[in-house]
Amino acid sequence: MADGMDVKGKRVLVVGLGKSGVASAQFLALRGARVTVSDTRSRDELKSQIPALLDRGIAVETGGHGERTFRDQDLIVVSPGVPSDLPQLVKARAQGIPVIGEIELAAHFLQGKIVAITGSNGKTTTTTLCGDLIASSSQRTLVGGNIGTPVILLVDDSTADTINVIEVSSFQLETIETFHPHIAVVLNITPDHLDRHGSLEAYTAAKARIFENQDNADYAVLNVDDAGSLGLESRVKSRLVWFTRKQPLTGNRQGAFVRDGQIYWRQNGNDEDVMPVSEITLKGAHNLENVLAAVAVGRLCGCDAVSIRNAVRKFKAVEHRLQHVATLGGVEYYNDSKATNVDATIKAIESFPGNIHLILGGKDKDSDYTLMNSLLRQRVKRVYTIGAAAEKIRAHVQSAVEVLPCRTLDSAVERAHDLAKAGDIVLLAPACSSFDQFENYEHRGRTFRSLVERLANPAVAGPERR
Ligand code: ADP
Repeated sequence: MADGMDVKGKRVLVVGLGKSGVASAQFLALRGARVTVSDTRSRDELKSQIPALLDRGIAVETGGHGERTFRDQDLIVVSPGVPSDLPQLVKARAQGIPVIGEIELAAHFLQGKIVAITGSNGKTTTTTLCGDLIASSSQRTLVGGNIGTPVILLVDDSTADTINVIEVSSFQLETIETFHPHIAVVLNITPDHLDRHGSLEAYTAAKARIFENQDNADYAVLNVDDAGSLGLESRVKSRLVWFTRKQPLTGNRQGAFVRDGQIYWRQNGNDEDVMPVSEITLKGAHNLENVLAAVAVGRLCGCDAVSIRNAVRKFKAVEHRLQHVATLGGVEYYNDSKATNVDATIKAIESFPGNIHLILGGKDKDSDYTLMNSLLRQRVKRVYTIGAAAEKIRAHVQSAVEVLPCRTLDSAVERAHDLAKAGDIVLLAPACSSFDQFENYEHRGRTFRSLVERLANPAVAGPERR
């Protein structure tokens, strides 16, 4: 809880100058800490961030992390992109220097209650929806974390009656100590980021840390339909709340579920009618799971069923998350650039009955693309491969579906457009990260959108270039 950690006069090192690193450094300097920041990127790459840091009297180290920089610090704040086994950090820990992340730092200052949402997929969608539905019941809410706004930037706006809805990644959970959500949600756990966590067990253990500081006054929200989330039950000390789209909850189980096309909230043995599933505008069964999780969070935060229903009805897909882009000649184009792992792509394919032209590829994350084969066989007409992972993907899926190597997104969109017929779907859901050919998944998604818009109107300018 907000104990207002005293940082005045303390020597603090911030490692990694991403959004949250910059915000943490500024926050600490404003509170009187003696702050140094360190990043492996060059001064030139960081030139837009550096002047504001120097103006606050923050020392800046670029182009690597000096051994001495880590010595004699009172606290080290690491960014989620920095590996926790960085030798300098290991050494600092051994010397007894606390090493925490930005979320942990913020937790010492944030006022109000915390709703924390994690999972392999669906975090941003569910976090955004939770924020919307809490706001629609006229309660004070702030939304931040992995979703974009660092939590440290919420601190000044938070008050004792704020509900802070925070998206947390497994990387951020690796560096918490006292972070204590009143409501903690684990949407699902499927293999992702194994290149960094090493094993599914280590990844699951990182996710389970979301419950670490909870007690029996708090709530843990788990997904009955996902083995990874369900499997965390034994690690929970707080009150269990469930959500499921596959079976009604019964007995003394509390939570959100679907029966005969209707969403219910079950508490104390009573089923309260919330809304029909048909009113959800988002596509796919996975999004129904996100909505159910949000309904559970909403009811636990005291939102009434009417405000929940209104917020869900109004909610449109977050950009790059199975977002409808255009219909051209009867062909629907969907941008799911955020499908950066195999499970998200499977969920995207499952959202359409068939006739899919699927664009796959990018930077591989040690993924097993054969997991898609039975769905590819049933629902996908052709796969168009792009990027560095193209060859591996072809080798994994060619027994199930026709593969057209395209190299670039431009050529994939063009070929799909040539080959798709009215009633077909062209879907960008690449199952890979984007860094081989794009700045990030947003850049990839925007490029897709411009390419599709150019097909609709060849006179418009082409996509932005890196
Ligand atoms: P995250 O923030 O966890 O990455 P997003 O809401 O940004 O989640 O969605 C990421 C990707 O996963 C998108 O491709 C989206 O369509 C897909 N997705 C969303 N919700 C789920 C879910 N509950 N299960 C599986 N995939 C999902």
